[in-house]
Amino acid sequence: MNPTTMRLFIKFFWITAVLALPSFLLQSCETASSSTKEENLKSQPIALVIHGGAGTMSRERMTPDVEQAILEALEKALNEGYAALESGSTATEAILKTIFILEQSPWFNAGIGAVLTEEGHPELDASIMDGATGLAGAVAGVSHIKSPIHAAEKVMSESPHVMLAGKGAEIFAESQRLEMVSPDYFITDRMRERYKNRQGALRMHEDSKMGTVGAVALDKNGNIAAGTSTGGMMGKKFGRIGDAPIIGAGTFAENNTCGVSSTGHGEYFIRTVAAYDVAARMKYLGQSLEEAGHGVIEDLKVLGGDGGLIALDQKGNIIMPFNTSGMYRGYIKEKGKPVAAIFKD
Ligand code: ASP
Repeated sequence: MNPTTMRLFIKFFWITAVLALPSFLLQSCETASSSTKEENLKSQPIALVIHGGAGTMSRERMTPDVEQAILEALEKALNEGYAALESGSTATEAILKTIFILEQSPWFNAGIGAVLTEEGHPELDASIMDGATGLAGAVAGVSHIKSPIHAAEKVMSESPHVMLAGKGAEIFAESQRLEMVSPDYFITDRMRERYKNRQGALRMHEDSKMGTVGAVALDKNGNIAAGTSTGGMMGKKFGRIGDAPIIGAGTFAENNTCGVSSTGHGEYFIRTVAAYDVAARMKYLGQSLEEAGHGVIEDLKVLGGDGGLIALDQKGNIIMPFNTSGMYRGYIKEKGKPVAAIFKD
């Protein structure tokens, strides 16, 4: 090679190298960031926590058969909800799946098995919130929608609103092709009996297990969602709306703090904005999930409010505090088995 060719060759080499450098750097950055993303996803835990209501529950009064049936119903909901999360469903999809199973179980006060109003009718409330987007949906005082939690999700995803009540909610649900049923669909013999034997209008204490259902899920992308569904409180006034459909009281989800679903005497949860208060204590006081959740339930008790909540954060920490003698509850964490319980200890 003569010196001129050599010079030309070197020049060509440098021009090519300088031109190729940015795209090489970009590519290696992309590879690095996608492998960090993959690493993050791999280390991102998934988790599911549920409740089936809190209240006065005595071990002596519950037969082993009933206890077993309730624990099995909780485990079924946990297993199916968790399987959905494992196969890549979003937290919101897992909430729908889990809560629908609980709504269809006669053991809980939501969907089939809901308590009855003073006049003897079921009036159901439900809500859902997506912690990734901050979107939420709710329905209140409905008696013809087979799955109130699905209707709440439709309000969130298919309407510009957060809550629809009564007839309007039912017309909307029908327009979304959700299954509609007669109110009798929700009334079990057990509830008819309890209604007949009720003492006073709002029967809250003395062996009253409230039975609302709720779920909070953390999915593979680190997104949190929470949902709650209920028949409300036995003997409630026609038109009474509890905390379950109220975002911030019965349900709240925010990725960078936590997801929460409440259960108990709804009026207290509304007045203390209980579900949001857990997130607010974390955000503004720097409290841990544990401190925040227990603090909310302890403060509720001081005001005279009975109940509990379930909550989880993005790391997969789970809490299930309650100030009653029992709360139907359970959770599954990474690769774990469902853990379900009823009584305090
Ligand atoms: N919180 C519900 C309500 O007040 C009742 C419950 O949790 O069982 O409507």
